[in-house]
Amino acid sequence: MAKKGVEADEAKKLTPVMRQFEDAKAQHPDAILFFRLGDFYEMFHEDAVTASRVLSLTLTSRNKGAKDEIPMAGVPYHAAHGYIAKLLAAGFKVALCEQMADPSKVKGIVPREVVRVLTPALVTSEDQLEARENQWLAAVDLAGTPESPTIGLALLDLSTGELLASELGGVAPLLAEVARADPRELLLGGDPAAVVAIDEALRAVVPRLAHRADEGLADADVDALLDEATEIAVAAEARRSGLPLAGLRAAARAVRFARRCTPRVKLPVRRIAPHDLAACMRVDETAQAHLEIVRAAAGGRAGSLLDVVDATTTPAGARLLRRRLLAPLLDVGAIRRRLDEVEVFVTHSRCRAELREALGDLGDLERLAVRASLREVGPRDLGALRDGLHAAPRAAEAVGRIPDASARELLGASVDLLPELAALLARALVDQPPVSGKDGGAIREGFDAELDECRRLEAGGTERIVALEASLRASTGATSLRIKFNRVFGYTIEVTKTHLAKVPAAWRRKQTIAGAERFTSAELDQLAADVEGASARALEIEERLFGDLCDRTAEASPRIRELCRRLAAWDVASALADVAHRHDYVRPEVDESDVLAIEEGRHPVVERTSARGRFVPNDVTLVAGADRLWLVTGPNMAGKSTLMRQTALIALLAQAGSFVPAKAARIGLVDRLLSRVGASDDLARGDSTFMVEMRETAAILRQATRRSLVVLDEIGRGTSTYDGLAIAWSVAEHLHDAVGCRALFATHYHELTELSKTAPGVVNVSVSAREHDGGVVFLHTVQRGPASRSYGIAVARLAGLPESVLARARAVLLTLEAGAQAAPATSTAEPTRKGRGAVPQLDLFAAPSVAAPDPAERLAIETVRALDVTRTTPLDALSLLAKLQASLGGSRDPA
Ligand code: ATP
Repeated sequence: MAKKGVEADEAKKLTPVMRQFEDAKAQHPDAILFFRLGDFYEMFHEDAVTASRVLSLTLTSRNKGAKDEIPMAGVPYHAAHGYIAKLLAAGFKVALCEQMADPSKVKGIVPREVVRVLTPALVTSEDQLEARENQWLAAVDLAGTPESPTIGLALLDLSTGELLASELGGVAPLLAEVARADPRELLLGGDPAAVVAIDEALRAVVPRLAHRADEGLADADVDALLDEATEIAVAAEARRSGLPLAGLRAAARAVRFARRCTPRVKLPVRRIAPHDLAACMRVDETAQAHLEIVRAAAGGRAGSLLDVVDATTTPAGARLLRRRLLAPLLDVGAIRRRLDEVEVFVTHSRCRAELREALGDLGDLERLAVRASLREVGPRDLGALRDGLHAAPRAAEAVGRIPDASARELLGASVDLLPELAALLARALVDQPPVSGKDGGAIREGFDAELDECRRLEAGGTERIVALEASLRASTGATSLRIKFNRVFGYTIEVTKTHLAKVPAAWRRKQTIAGAERFTSAELDQLAADVEGASARALEIEERLFGDLCDRTAEASPRIRELCRRLAAWDVASALADVAHRHDYVRPEVDESDVLAIEEGRHPVVERTSARGRFVPNDVTLVAGADRLWLVTGPNMAGKSTLMRQTALIALLAQAGSFVPAKAARIGLVDRLLSRVGASDDLARGDSTFMVEMRETAAILRQATRRSLVVLDEIGRGTSTYDGLAIAWSVAEHLHDAVGCRALFATHYHELTELSKTAPGVVNVSVSAREHDGGVVFLHTVQRGPASRSYGIAVARLAGLPESVLARARAVLLTLEAGAQAAPATSTAEPTRKGRGAVPQLDLFAAPSVAAPDPAERLAIETVRALDVTRTTPLDALSLLAKLQASLGGSRDPA
């Protein structure tokens, strides 16, 4: 410590330990410092106050009562895990400051160092990670002007060593990408005004995120930062592969942040993968939510698309499938290759079963390999790695047994299985290694001669002690004599009071206990020293051997990860094949055409929840530029949303490389899936619903291209009927005329079906229901033509509305329809476009034409006509009569 520092400490009366604390804290001021003192992690000052609040710990103080009292709180070392997890969940960072030497072997103060900083994203231990999801740290770099910033995005998963980076064309794709990645933590750096604006927008998309402002970053530092922090220099290759500066800058931010968290080792990152957004189908954040791709509306995974198609057996496979579903491809060749892989396993079901069985024993090899390179593995982890490496050859053999050579080649059947490492670990480790290496017992007998010898000495010594006990009992005649062991006094000869007279004079007394005395002798001392020496030596050797194993594993980590990539791809392909086989999915034809034709398509999630065989398949045919916009009508609960979502999901599954739930499907590439649900279905939103709805609709219209698939469910319902209809009308028209994309448009505005008269690519379809015995039977079949209007009333009857009310409703409906038909060809009720006809006249109470009867009379007549007398109670009839009379202006006071 510098002289100045000592003086300062003296002035502040800092003890050497507190000096250590201050130094460590100075390096990590924004983290809660867990400072190891013996069997506890202690926290001081502000950290103690915060932690005691968040973790409900007792706040005590160091130097209690003195002037320099310091707030303090602590958690036991062995229970720290749970506390740390809680702090991370609350968005804090935790820095672990450890004792760097065994306190019993150090003279003076034990050296201490921060060995790891944990943050919500940067955790690697199994119990803090979601096995089937990536754990992303997102770093955003904003340069340029706040109005049009250049946006770089990097995603780092420390637990798998993956680093992706890209430059984004605007805020919309940034939001979509962040929603897709669903990171645990977000780092924002760059132009301050842009940071504030974008931070706000991001918070709306991913609210559960820990946000952090990142410091400045000079362009000149970017490459060096990337290269120094990572396992191999990554900057040059990333530049060569065409990654723009914004992406590199974002990657450098992520890496700088993560590097501070793992100060003792380099990051297990070996390349920056350019995250090419242009190569993926764009699925904006509203569509991700609406289509329930990886998460259901209720919030959990259950009920999502991922839930029903994820039959993977390894965590790495599950992560890969999840990513593929969230980023379907746009390259026909690549999609077909994935489909080929699935098809191989559909065809060769026996190999599929064998492969899946072997993969079941693989564990999370990928994350284990990364933890090995981070030096965060214990004996049990290496044991798991050994078991994984043992299962991998069985998986490769299963693939190798596929009789078709080109299929084997496609799957990359010949892989590096790291036989030397597998053999080494198998020889070195016991069957069930302990979690921690500190008590020994991890290394198998026969692996190291010196270790075996020490263990033999230790065991032999113990045996000799047992023999000594018997011989002492015999020689002294003290029948109750025992040799005991405890931690404080080591081995002692225990003699009860009644036999004390028989104790030889040469024995030394060590301890008195109730009813007995404990002694030692020269012979016992020697034996004890032998045993303890051998055991300490054995521990030392084990520690060294285990360290070697870790080194060897860490060295092999890149190869293990390469193997994992292959195994994960096999896992995904065989799992998708399994789903296809069990649930009758078919290989879609994916091409560059404008067609989206699905024969007997099914909704992958709804069909699983409906009773077996009860799901009604439907055909959908959309052709960009031709019959492109399906206007779907039908009563509530008929299955409009289901039809639309299944169409989108089938396109998405196909381009992700999966078979699809249909009899046949042809998918001309879809570049964007744009989707939004209207206000009526969007219960979770607050009162600014309509504004949100319009903003999202606007975004869809802006983003849609001719190649897109747009799914709009009941838009315009957040406002009054007129506004809503007008908006729905013009949105549909815009999609049809200006964009020309394939679209499905469900609506309750029956009037919208008129659009087909003027827009040639609009096709009216309805999801049918049949009136039966006064009620509705949902057939769920799609048919050409608009739905009948009266289902609503049938549904209302099902719900138990009185007959008189139903009759009235029927009359209103008829009048409405009559009004619509009577509407003039060019109405003043707007909107009209390009002189092509008009929105139909809707106003029930509009001024009657000369020939028409008085509207009230008309309504009264229709009401009587529509009344089902057989179902009407006398009271109902009476009240209806009174109402009719009143409406005709002829009411008479019953009194
Ligand atoms: P709303 O207008 O009230 O939103 P909707 O017409 O959009 O209703 P959906 O939500 O799609 O109706 O479907 C309602 C229910 O009908 C679904 O939850 C499902 O159980 C069932 N269903 C929909 N389509 C089918 C089908 N093709 N086969 C069997 N059941 C179906």
